[in-house]
Amino acid sequence: MSMNRRGFLKGALAGGTLLATAQPVAARDNKTMPPEALGLLYDATLCIGCKACVAACKESNGMPPEFSTPEQYWDTPLDISGKTLNVIKMYKSGNGENKDSEKDGYAFMKVSCLHCVDPSCVSACPVSAMTKNPSNGIVGYDKDICIGCRYCVAACPFGVPRFQYDTPFPQISKCQLCRHRMKDGKYAACAEVCPTGATLFGKVSELHAEAQRRMALKPGSTTVYPRGKLGGVDQSYEGRVAQYVPHIYGEKEVGGTQMIKLSAVPFEKVGMPKLPERSYAATSETMQHTLYGGLVLPLLFLGGLSYIAKRNVKDDENEND
Ligand code: SF4
Ligand code: SF4
Ligand code: SF4
Repeated sequence: MSMNRRGFLKGALAGGTLLATAQPVAARDNKTMPPEALGLLYDATLCIGCKACVAACKESNGMPPEFSTPEQYWDTPLDISGKTLNVIKMYKSGNGENKDSEKDGYAFMKVSCLHCVDPSCVSACPVSAMTKNPSNGIVGYDKDICIGCRYCVAACPFGVPRFQYDTPFPQISKCQLCRHRMKDGKYAACAEVCPTGATLFGKVSELHAEAQRRMALKPGSTTVYPRGKLGGVDQSYEGRVAQYVPHIYGEKEVGGTQMIKLSAVPFEKVGMPKLPERSYAATSETMQHTLYGGLVLPLLFLGGLSYIAKRNVKDDENEND
């Protein structure tokens, strides 16, 4: 009556034969960005590591302080967490004397949700608690729908969503681009307070044009840098152009992101992962549709079950003979 592995495989193969008649499923392409998509341009060469953006983010989102020193005087988060949606990290090499230098230098990097064009957190969420706004592309979260499965945590290629393990009613934490402030005509608090324009808010299409403009400038020359909101109140100032690496991070990674980044130090060095251009959501949904839409898994399973049932009937018949 028991089933051995060879038996199951035989049944599975029978299911596989049926599969040959199933229709192939077309690969799903990366999704495209809404034309009115909003986002951020973070230019690490303008960042001075003041962390005003970290404090403003906490205040605007009502997030509690996080202590990493024994004195517990200051909010000193070391990474994004259930209490912190945005941090500025520092890269250091050798004697760390030169800003934005890979050798014997240091550089800053903003860490927060990148608002992917085709977000895998949205694709993985079984109850649509993570959603992408079809108009502005902001990836938002609804705590009232969330069931705490943490699929979004596992799915994000940037390790962004964090689960609040140490609260009685845990939620997922991640930046939502201050969407709650937009009804009052405000924009992302991190960009609003940034004294240098290192974090700049705006339409993603315009942020891309600004990033291209900066990369085309001669290193060492001067140019005008906007601050706050691109196209908003003029708070621009004149500054010196750094030697950028020729890469707009987020232009292509996993199908593109609505926060894009510029840096003078290679992105892998400052903690940004090297990723394919195909979105994880497109890859995993194509696989799922092939397996379930093409009935591969159900047929394999059914083949195994049919074999067991057949054998059981035969065994019973033999016993009754
Ligand atoms: S960075 Fe992660 S959490 Fe943010 S939208 Fe992309 S997949 Fe979702
Ligand atoms: S933890 Fe919540 S938001 Fe994340 S995938 Fe599960 S239900 Fe969706
Ligand atoms: S507020 Fe601006 S300059 Fe200060 S740490 Fe944040 S991004 Fe950098």
